[in-house]
Amino acid sequence: MVVMKFGGSSVADKEQIDKVLAIVRTRLGRKPVVVSSAHKGMTNALIAAAHAAASGDTNAGEQAIKKQQAVAHELGCPDALLAPFYDEIRVLVRGIALLKEANLRALDAMASFGERMAVRAIADYFTRKGIKSSAWDIWDLGFITDSNFGAALPLPGYETAMRDAVNKLVPKDTVPIITGFVGKNEAGEITTVGRNGSDFTGTLVGAALGSDEIEIWTDTDGVMTADPRVIAGVRSIPEMTFAEAAELANYGSRVLHPSSIYPAVKRNIPVRVLNTNRPEHPGTVIVRDTSDGREALTSIAYDDKQAVVSITSTQMLGQVGFLAKVFDVIGRNGVDVDMIATSEVSVSMTTNGKNIDKLNGAIKELEQFGKVVVYTDKTILCVVGPNLSGTRGIGAKVLAALSGAGINIDMVSYGADSINFSMVIDDRDTPKAVATLHKALFE
Ligand code: ASP
Ligand code: MG
Repeated sequence: MVVMKFGGSSVADKEQIDKVLAIVRTRLGRKPVVVSSAHKGMTNALIAAAHAAASGDTNAGEQAIKKQQAVAHELGCPDALLAPFYDEIRVLVRGIALLKEANLRALDAMASFGERMAVRAIADYFTRKGIKSSAWDIWDLGFITDSNFGAALPLPGYETAMRDAVNKLVPKDTVPIITGFVGKNEAGEITTVGRNGSDFTGTLVGAALGSDEIEIWTDTDGVMTADPRVIAGVRSIPEMTFAEAAELANYGSRVLHPSSIYPAVKRNIPVRVLNTNRPEHPGTVIVRDTSDGREALTSIAYDDKQAVVSITSTQMLGQVGFLAKVFDVIGRNGVDVDMIATSEVSVSMTTNGKNIDKLNGAIKELEQFGKVVVYTDKTILCVVGPNLSGTRGIGAKVLAALSGAGINIDMVSYGADSINFSMVIDDRDTPKAVATLHKALFE
């Protein structure tokens, strides 16, 4: 069995869906289970509709509906296939407009239409093209989540529930096309696993069903040495470990959703990242242990719009338990820390700039320890590689290249056994820094 997840760009329109059709055809002997995103741009359109509705626009759903209709039309789907969903969108828009509020629950309900309509359109088209398919809302196949709207997780036991449901409900002669991204809680309310979360759904489904391999179909030749939208000379990485992939995903390598690695790690299922536009390319395979003799470095990743908090305190001198107190405050305020550097009298850490509200809550408490300064518009820039710690001179090369380009480094973090050398720089230096490092390390 093979779980194949297709992203929004892979199912953007008929031209792309025809490529997906051809790819799935080549996997028919391996019992494919397809997990699909919404057509490209649909989730954004639906979320925009919810926000517009909250500010009183009672026709806010029409643009998203038109977008979906255009794809369904190209695919030759009967109007009746999706008409009930268009009605539901209009009802939800009116509800939000009445309440004048688009809360997380409403946003999840609205966003869910993208995947729910896409799987129906795709299954209908596939069936007419000779691959008998059935469309599934994932909650009808045992995928029940907690009630953390906008970032839901499946409930324990979902794996058995899914296996049983798929065995019992999916006709043996059809390819199931399952919604990514969405779920339902036990009360039957719609949730989502978070933006760009269809990868995560894909690996969760793969883990539940005991897939031999999980294929993530996207629009690059696998995971690249840097973001192809920023750097011209990027190369595809043939293989990497789960740990490397997790580092890269966390630092915004826009190929994999950060959580998507864990379900595969847990069941030790290889994840292969492939290009829908170039299916013959082997892409990147992500596994527990890679072959010997790989190069020291895998790739460069970055995450911008970060905030750095720095606490300077003489209380730290010779004190035991100081850091524990600091991180107790951080933890209680729900601030998610990515990078840390400490010295005898100061500690600096980074968090996503989006967490600034939580951070402000923490700062009041942190001020009891010493002087607290927050810097914003910062980027975490990382060099990731399996043999970083065992290879001499990489730090020197990285720092020399950045200094040669006139780029200032605010913070550095590198641990024993680390596969990630990370630095903090100004957002405005990021494009230049990535290009400089890529040239110095990979070209
Ligand atoms: N459609 C969802 C989004 O755009 C999930 C995904 O594409 O992975 O966030
Ligand atoms: Mg981030």
